[in-house]
Amino acid sequence: MDRSIYLGVDVGGTYIKCARLRGTKILKRITMETRAREGLEVSLQQILTAINRIGKDAAGIGIGIAGIIDSKHGIVRYSPNMPGWDEVPLARLLERKSGVPVCILNDVNAACLGEWQYGAAKGCQDVFMLTVGTGVGGAAVCEGRLQFGAHGFAGEFGHIIIKENGKKCACGNRGCLESYVGVRPITRLARRLLRNRKSSLHEAERITPRSIALEAKRGDRVARDIYARIGHYLGIGITNIIHLYDPTIVIVSGGVSNAGRILFDPLRKTVKECVIGSRFRDYWIVPPALGNDAGILGAVYYAKSVAHSANSS
Ligand SMILES: [Zn+2]
Repeated sequence: MDRSIYLGVDVGGTYIKCARLRGTKILKRITMETRAREGLEVSLQQILTAINRIGKDAAGIGIGIAGIIDSKHGIVRYSPNMPGWDEVPLARLLERKSGVPVCILNDVNAACLGEWQYGAAKGCQDVFMLTVGTGVGGAAVCEGRLQFGAHGFAGEFGHIIIKENGKKCACGNRGCLESYVGVRPITRLARRLLRNRKSSLHEAERITPRSIALEAKRGDRVARDIYARIGHYLGIGITNIIHLYDPTIVIVSGGVSNAGRILFDPLRKTVKECVIGSRFRDYWIVPPALGNDAGILGAVYYAKSVAHSANSS
């Protein structure tokens, strides 16, 4: 075993990404298409193959994965990207076959740890991170500690309810933030606004958050209106977060955040208007700094800190 080597793994619905790290330096990478539909055994084997190729000698492995993850017991309770991964003791299964200690945590928690330690929130003690993509996730670091909550599921930012009797959400509730700002609601809003308005989006090959952002930057009014509304909804959500956690920094990541200022300007405006005690607070709402590696760096940081606290107790 090489004590300086750790393996970081990001289990996504499309790709499984693995990286061999010394410190924060990525020495090797393996990326595979996730074969989640072929069942638990196949995707487990994919992760094991990667461990055998680039992490057999590692001191530890940190794995970030979407869903309800019980980090304390190393159990995937449920993962939306991985059908059949219900109540899977992932850490134990992988440890037994690889001989390397394994820690697992929610993917947004992992990305938040990465950005906190090495990226956009470096040096801050109170951080909130939200990701806006197909789903909307969240994670909080308060007074220098990642928040897990009583059962390990803290930070479900996408499912805070911003409108009573609002739109139906995938979770079964109505009016969740996710049903207003995720990829699907954005394209649905675009289609609705485009019905009776002129827009260069009528010529777009596909209506996606990306194509809408592109036209918004070129000055298209409808595209700008779409992001103004999304920014406003996110601003309401972030106002709730600031009132709850009083963070110094809120990181907005995920595909939708790539829109840049056309999203961040209306978002910041709503927060400024709604947050109480605004003039007594110093807070920043920013995009992430680490790109796609935040999750891997954060998962490794987590694995190291678990190993460290086990050694010192
Ligand atoms: Zn919901």
